[in-house]
Amino acid sequence: MKPNEGKLQTGEHIFAKIIENKILDANVVIAKFDKEKEGSIDFSTSTDLRKLILNDLERETNSIIKKELPVHKKIFKRKEIEGEFDLSKIFKSVNEIRIVEIEGFDKRPCRDPHMANTREIGYFAITKIKRVGKDRYRFLFEVSKNPTAN
Ligand SMILES: [Zn+2]
Repeated sequence: MKPNEGKLQTGEHIFAKIIENKILDANVVIAKFDKEKEGSIDFSTSTDLRKLILNDLERETNSIIKKELPVHKKIFKRKEIEGEFDLSKIFKSVNEIRIVEIEGFDKRPCRDPHMANTREIGYFAITKIKRVGKDRYRFLFEVSKNPTAN
């Protein structure tokens, strides 16, 4: 695991939930963590996400992080959870699916590394948003130990 991957991943779940709560037709298309210090997440939605205020989203994400919510990982059989989650992006041949739960806030399937509680993420900074296709928007984000803002 790259040094920051668990932090970026866990922050990404929080950020995804915040966007999904605000924008009803927003869906995560893909999240990438191939750079050491930066993650990206793409949403599909008919809403122009460039109109959102990045500072507000950043503040909201960090307010969840600061709550030090425990992060639980548990494996389920596909049939146990197929009504509860969108499993369409997971190959049909995969029968055991790991659910990552940020206690009291979010649950979603993910097999990648995550922190044990949200505070370990550090400060989550949203650095950029851009339109990357019709109804598709990409946010770039970073994590750091020492908050440079707020
Ligand atoms: Zn994840």
